[in-house]
This record gives sequence, structure tokens and C-alpha cells, in this order.
Amino acid sequence: MPTLRFHALKETFNRVPIPVTEPERRSDIFGKNVFNETAMRQYLTKDSFKSVMDAIENGSKIERHIADHISTGMKEWAIAKGATHYTHWFQPLTGATAEKHDAFFETMENGQAIEKFGGGQLVQQEPDASSFPNGGIRNTFEARGYTAWDPTSPAFIYGTTLCIPTVFVAYTGEALDYKTPLLRALQSVDGAATAVAKYFDKNVTKVIATLGWEQEYFLIDSALAASRPDISLAGRSLLGHSSAKGQQLDDHYFGSIPARVLNFMRHLETECMLLGIPVKTRHNEVAPNQFELAPIFEETNLAVDHNSLLMDLMHKIAEKHNFKVLFHEKPFANVNGSGKHNNWSLATNTGVNLLGPGSTPMKNLQFLTFFINTLKAVNEYEELLRASIASASNDHRLGANEAPPAIISAFIGSQLTEVLDELEKVTSGKLSPQEKTDLKLNVVGKIPEILLDNTDRNRTSPFAFTGNKFEFRAVGSTANCANPMTVLNAIVAKQLIDFKAEVDALIKDKKMKKDDAIFNVLKEYIKDSKRIRFEGDGYGDAWEKEAKKRGLSNHKTTPEALKAKVSKKTIALFEELGIMSKVEIEARHEIEVEDYALRIQIEGRILGDIARNHVIPTGIRYQNILIENVQGLKNIYGTDFKKFSVEQMRLIEQISEHIAKINKGITEMIDARKKANKIENAEKRAFAYCDDVKPYFEIIRYHCDKLELLVDDEIWPLTKYRELLFTK
Ligand code: ADP
Ligand code: MG
Repeated sequence: MPTLRFHALKETFNRVPIPVTEPERRSDIFGKNVFNETAMRQYLTKDSFKSVMDAIENGSKIERHIADHISTGMKEWAIAKGATHYTHWFQPLTGATAEKHDAFFETMENGQAIEKFGGGQLVQQEPDASSFPNGGIRNTFEARGYTAWDPTSPAFIYGTTLCIPTVFVAYTGEALDYKTPLLRALQSVDGAATAVAKYFDKNVTKVIATLGWEQEYFLIDSALAASRPDISLAGRSLLGHSSAKGQQLDDHYFGSIPARVLNFMRHLETECMLLGIPVKTRHNEVAPNQFELAPIFEETNLAVDHNSLLMDLMHKIAEKHNFKVLFHEKPFANVNGSGKHNNWSLATNTGVNLLGPGSTPMKNLQFLTFFINTLKAVNEYEELLRASIASASNDHRLGANEAPPAIISAFIGSQLTEVLDELEKVTSGKLSPQEKTDLKLNVVGKIPEILLDNTDRNRTSPFAFTGNKFEFRAVGSTANCANPMTVLNAIVAKQLIDFKAEVDALIKDKKMKKDDAIFNVLKEYIKDSKRIRFEGDGYGDAWEKEAKKRGLSNHKTTPEALKAKVSKKTIALFEELGIMSKVEIEARHEIEVEDYALRIQIEGRILGDIARNHVIPTGIRYQNILIENVQGLKNIYGTDFKKFSVEQMRLIEQISEHIAKINKGITEMIDARKKANKIENAEKRAFAYCDDVKPYFEIIRYHCDKLELLVDDEIWPLTKYRELLFTK
């Protein structure tokens, strides 16, 4: 009997919910472990406090002597809360968060010791992080990367460690993390959007991008997960026959949350409260054992940090409840995968959501300006947007008839479609007073303040307008949101800069009134960006054909999609906005294609091991049982035995056939890997893994899954889908 599988099952059956304690009111503990405004007011001098706030609000520099004061205050606060260590907390390009803890503790010459944390340690650190991917920017022997404090994301205490959010850059200045380009993109969109918002309200001095992510995930019992080498190492099942019952009945979606899971969620949410992560919604998702968690939206940099922190936290809390969290986009075949919808908008310092329709024609013209510019930006840079969500794991989800296709399009709903159709008819040049009145009353004035009822209907769109924000739905569940958010905010920034230049030119050269000029430019944009608008079924074949006619890209694999990240157009965009240099862009591309090849390589090795060392021997063992049976029948019945052993003989042959195909598949896959490994160029290697290695996965899996259906359940070594997905 395969001990691991049955041992794991037994363990799972004996589980009981782990008790949790929750505060009476969540608001009482919200942000308790965050060095937020309240804590800063208490622990910092007036000058230090002002300096930090100024850095947060206006991006001003913090003087060194002030940093010393801040670090002292921060240390006192952290120690009062039981912290013993501090770390610069950053997001290298591995996708996970990184930290290296140092104790506050220091010895003095007189043999005594004190707790110390200076301004220098707060502001900058050299984590000796020479093993992080850097795409060749930083010579490893130099190992000169450093982390620098990002005051716009507050420090927090995690366990007994004070975590200081930082950027991670090479000494030569290039960004080595996700945060640096994101911060630059956010700065760009602030500048560009503020300038445009001033057309409508002179009091606007700052625009922030807002992000509300929705995190989907699977929870699998930790013993069951550990019993599967593929789930342990790759975070997904590389084989396994579908369970007889999957998600056909839709009985998991929004159903009652299982008791063990609910306790995990309550525990997790309590920890989130302490860390100031404003989680709000939790529910079951479509697939069995799939769930979702969503917070209240926040400023984008903070929201990105909070998502990274949350993912880390989820792993830790899940362990306490005997679960393993799977963030992979497609952990199980034939049931839904996981995504991370990125809800995005722009908000002014005066409290206006620029993508929220207003109550007056003027407010609505502002709304339309930002709305149409976003559509234009997405139309212009659809390929780059697609590239921003490309990964080996998201390839399984995009276009798999449950998630958006690999084609980027925007859904806006019928009401806004009508409005844009009307606006397109506006006369070119100066508008007559009559036309303007008509427009204001009948078109712009008629946008209802609440569009939500009409807009959230199309779940097949990768980029949908949902009433007061856009929802980028194609983002994968493992993604660091910084990647898509850097691109989205950058392309909108670029678009708004161009828009302003065009409107200003019409005002200056053609002596147009401001709103005439705005109407004129928007009208052209509506025409220009028509091809990106799609209201129909994004999952259908018809859309693929139609999209092709429209000239929209449809890159189904990561190496293909990533090309757009290093195109001339992308380099020009990022360089113009000062977000990334050519060197940084190319280094990142190198890292991403490298990462892709490595992931497929690892999966290939795991699959080869499981298929050859677990599945084939099991097939042979069962075949031997059958052979013994046939021989026994022959002993009893002599030549008549055939009559009684037809089915057994057939099974024996079928097993041999599947084994032969599995073995052949593995041998050929290994050959393909060997060839791919010899390729020097990282991008070409990624293509080789994609085109020559990956196709074997399905062949090998198919025959393994068939064997699973033939072989005696008692000796099958791999925990089955029904056990993984339906044990609660
Ligand atoms: P759903 O999409 O599940 O129907 P909602 O539309 O209420 O739910 O919100 C989904 C997510 O969108 C939440 O995380 C919410 O905080 C976020 N969200 C709402 N408004 C904005 C906004 N203006 N900017 C960014 N995110 C937002
Ligand atoms: Mg949503």
C-alpha cells in the first residue's frame, strides 16, 4: 500500500478547526503594528513628523540629521511593541518579498549592550543580495546593490521584526526590483493627470492612482499537498485525472465556507488588521477549495506592498491551520484557475474619483476625458499590457475558456457605448452654442452617476469598466501587481501628456475654447481607439477571428508576449517618462525569459520523475497482479482459461501501451531539454522550452491519467484530485 498517500489522508480526516481569537471590533486593532500617522505623532518630534509627511505627500528629501531622529523614534516604537530586529523589506525580481534581519542589539566598549538603530540604517542598507536576479546589470563579483527607504509606504512590525519598505537598486542606479519603476510610473501619472485635471478644477495639485486587488487562491490540506511532489515543488498538479464531480454543479461558489477554512480566514484577517491591510471581502470561488479575498482599495504603491505582504502572510497563517495555499494560476486541470483582478482608478487630492461619473455636465466631461484617454492608452499599448501579465503560470489560464483570452480588449457597457457614439458625431472645429448646449444636456449630462448595474455584466473581458474604475482581469494570481500597474499607469501618463499637448495646441493655435478643444480631441480618440472596444463574448472563437481582423495581438505564450517589453515603442515610452532605461528594460526581459525557461525546466524534471519513478512502477505492479491472476486461472482451467481472462489480458496490454508511451514521452522530453539547455541566448532558450519541451507535458500526462483510471486505487501512490479538492 502506498504509505504516503494513505497516511496523508488519515491525517486529514482527523483534522479539527484550529481555534482563533478575534478582537471584538476590528477597527480597534487596525494598523496597530504600523508606524502610521498616529504612531509617528506620538514617537517623532514635530520637525521629524513634518519631514516624513512632506516626503510622503510631495516626495521631498529627508535630511540626514532628521533621519537620525526618525530612526530613533521608530526604534522606540518598535521595541515598545516587542520587536527585536529590523529589516529592509523589498521586492526583488524573484516575485517573492525579501528580508534580512538585523538585531537592534549592539555591544559597547565597556562590555555592556544597548539597542541601536541609526538614521543610516534606516535610510540605506547593503543586503549582500548578490543572488537575486539582475539580468546582468550588476556583476556578481561586485555585488553592489543597495536598498533605500521608501517613506511613502509605512514601516510595520511583522512577528518580532520591524520591516522597512525599501527600493532595491544597483550602485550604478539601475532598478533591481518591482517597486522602483512603479514609483516612477506613479509619479508620471500624477504629473500628467494633475495637469489635465486642472482643466476642470484649478485646486487639484495631486492625483494618485488607486488599486484594489482581488486575490484568488486554493487551500489544500498540508498533508495532502506534501504527499504530491508536483504540488510541493511546482505549486500545481502536473498530472491527476479529474474527479467525477468537479465544479459542474456550481455548488462551491459563494457557498458556506468550511469551518477549518473560515478559522484560517478569521486568523488571517486579524493579522491583516494589525498590519493595516484593509481586507473586507471573503468568499468561496468557483472551483472546489478555491477562495477569494479582497481589500478596500488604496493608493497603488501601498496596495502593491499590501498584496505582497498578504501573500507572505497567507503562507504563514495557512501553515498554522494545516493548509497549503496555492497561488498558482492553474493548480488543477479542468477546474477554474486563479486570477488577481486589479481594480484601478485615479483620484485627486480634492477627493474626486476621476473615473467616477459626476452629477454635472462639467464633471462628466472630466470623467469622459479620463475614461477616453484610458481607452486610447490601452488601444495604443495593448501588446505591452498583455506582456505585463505574461508568466509561465498565467499561460495556463489566459484563453483557457474560463479566464480572459490573451487578447486585450476593453468592455465599457451599453450606456457608455451610446455616449461615445454620440460624441463621435460632434462637429470638428468650434462648436456652435446650440450644439454645445445639446451636448451638455443630452449626451454628457445624461451619464448616470451610477453605472454599476449596467457595466459589470461581461465577465469575459480582460479590461472592463465597472462603473467607477477599470478592472484589469487578466492579471495572474501569482503576479506582483507592480508589474501590470507600472505599465498601466505609464501608458495612461503618456496618453494624458499627449492629450494635454493637443488640447493646448487647439486653444493656442486655433483659438478654440477649452471645452471645444477637449470635445474635438476626444472625438478623434474615440475613433482611433474603436478597435480595442469589445462588448461580446471574449471566450469565443469568433472573437479571435474578429480581433485578428482588427489587428489586435494574440500572444498565447510568455516568450512571444514578452517581446513587446523590449520593443522600440516600449523603450521609447519608458525612457521618455523616465521610468526605465534601455539597460533596465533589457535586463528585466532577460530575467523574465530566464525565469520562464527555468520554470518549465523544473516542471519537466518533476513530471519526468513522477511519471517514471512513481507511475510506471505502479502500472507494472498492477500488471503483475493481473498476470498472477491470469496464471492462476490457467492453473485451474487449463486451456479454457482464456474465456475467463479476456478483460485481464486486455488490461495487461493497455497498461503496457500506456507505459510505453509515457516512457517514450519522457525520453524525448529529456532530449528536448538537453538541446534547449545548450542554447546560449536566454530568449531563444525560453522559446525552445516553450515550443519543444512543454508539448510533452500533455502527452505524458494523458497516459499517466489513463493509467490512474486502470490501476487499483489501493496501490495508486499519488493523492487523487477528488481527495485534494474535496477534503475540507
Ligand atoms: P466586485 O468587482 O467583486 O463586484 P467591487 O466592484 O465592489 O466588487 O470592488 C472590487 C474591488 O474594487 C475592491 O477591492 C474595491 O476596493 C475596488 N475598488 C472600488 N473602487 C475603486 C477605485 N476607485 N479604485 C480602485 N479600486 C477600487
Ligand atoms: Mg471584481
